[in-house]
Amino acid sequence: MGKHILILGGGVIGLSTAFACAQRGHRVTVLEQGRCGGQASGAAAGMLAPFSENGEGPDDFFRLCLASLQLYPAWQQTVKEVSGRTFEYSHTGSLNVVYHESDRLALAGRAAWQERFGAQPQIVEGADLHRLEPALSPAVHAALYHPDESHIYAPDYVLALEEACRKSGVQIVDHLGSVRVIASPDHRACAVDKKGVTYEGDCLVVCNGAWAGELQEALGLQIPVYPIRGQICAYELPAPGSVRHMVFGSQGYVVPKANGTLVCGASEDVAGFDTAVTERGIQRLLNWNHRLYPFLEELEPYHRWAGLRPATQDGYPLLGRLSQQPAILMAAGHYRNGILLSPVTGQAVADLIDDRTPQVSLARFALERFTRQPVR
Ligand SMILES: Cc1cc2nc3c(=O)[nH]c(=O)nc-3n(C[C@H](O)[C@H](O)[C@H](O)COP(=O)(O)OP(=O)(O)OC[C@H]3O[C@@H](n4cnc5c(N)ncnc54)[C@H](O)[C@@H]3O)c2cc1C
Repeated sequence: MGKHILILGGGVIGLSTAFACAQRGHRVTVLEQGRCGGQASGAAAGMLAPFSENGEGPDDFFRLCLASLQLYPAWQQTVKEVSGRTFEYSHTGSLNVVYHESDRLALAGRAAWQERFGAQPQIVEGADLHRLEPALSPAVHAALYHPDESHIYAPDYVLALEEACRKSGVQIVDHLGSVRVIASPDHRACAVDKKGVTYEGDCLVVCNGAWAGELQEALGLQIPVYPIRGQICAYELPAPGSVRHMVFGSQGYVVPKANGTLVCGASEDVAGFDTAVTERGIQRLLNWNHRLYPFLEELEPYHRWAGLRPATQDGYPLLGRLSQQPAILMAAGHYRNGILLSPVTGQAVADLIDDRTPQVSLARFALERFTRQPVR
């Protein structure tokens, strides 16, 4: 018989975990303080770009990202089928651009290690680059092309995930205000909402994104998760297809969406839990955007927004079971890649709940890694 699983937080990580658990026959309840997808997940650009996001080298985090990219085709199809909703999933490929000959060497270094992971990266320049991405600024010297990177329309994906959860029997309890985790005497999992309503389950998965640090005391764990605000904007493109690929540069990225808009992001500011959009934050994006695409200088973004990325001290998420309280698991701190990492996170947490070994090693993401051991 399935277990009863409580999920704290209804962002992409909580919903993916809920969906994966429900698919395996567990009874699942999602506890959300506001609206599902109303925080970072609904604000994301939706890039599924493990090679572009991990330029340095193939560490465990890169492997986790790559495993998730590989799960995406089947995962997004299942979400669509179960929810009855659709969302954009586009295989545009990506270009990582440089402006100087001296930076070409760095692209070659990235291509060399990424090739070993089946990326088929290519350095493109001159007429070839112009053919691939005609509107790109002539000041761009070269680009590393990844044909396999893709993106989704994050707000629609999260809505579909929520619906897929509901259709799979997941109970979603939202607009609860901040829900607290409380100690349970009989090793079960327990949470209580603002009105004092108590929820009990066989286990509880903490998926509350940038707010995870608030549970340090309750979990007896150091949780160095911080909100990093991302300000982002979107233009209506003058002609369909005027931007063909996701393009990454040193100051940001652009993502052409199937609805004819171009999403351009994103700032990385420390502003606490403030999700306001500032003139300064957006102006920095605008200054950079037309260095990539000169035609953008004539345009104004039609939409500007912001979200809070859940960053950890070492840049890696917290994924696993709490050794002191085995009824509690955590999946938080996905920083810039929570949309990409949603399938692998959902599957890995469901594996832990089922006492199975996850496909990808989670050792590097252990919950206790920041917690100082008592001095003996
Ligand atoms: C501008 C921007 C662009 C991004 N672009 C990309 C991208 O292109 N690709 C990518 O992979 N990632 C991207 N990201 C990162 C991605 O959005 C995040 O990593 C991901 O959304 C994190 O998901 P989450 O579910 O952990 O957090 P959230 O979406 O923030 O969800 C956490 C949920 O927990 C709830 N909550 C918090 N505390 C409590 C509590 N005590 N009780 C009950 N509920 C609680 C919150 O209300 C919230 O709904 C981007 C982020 C931003 C801001």
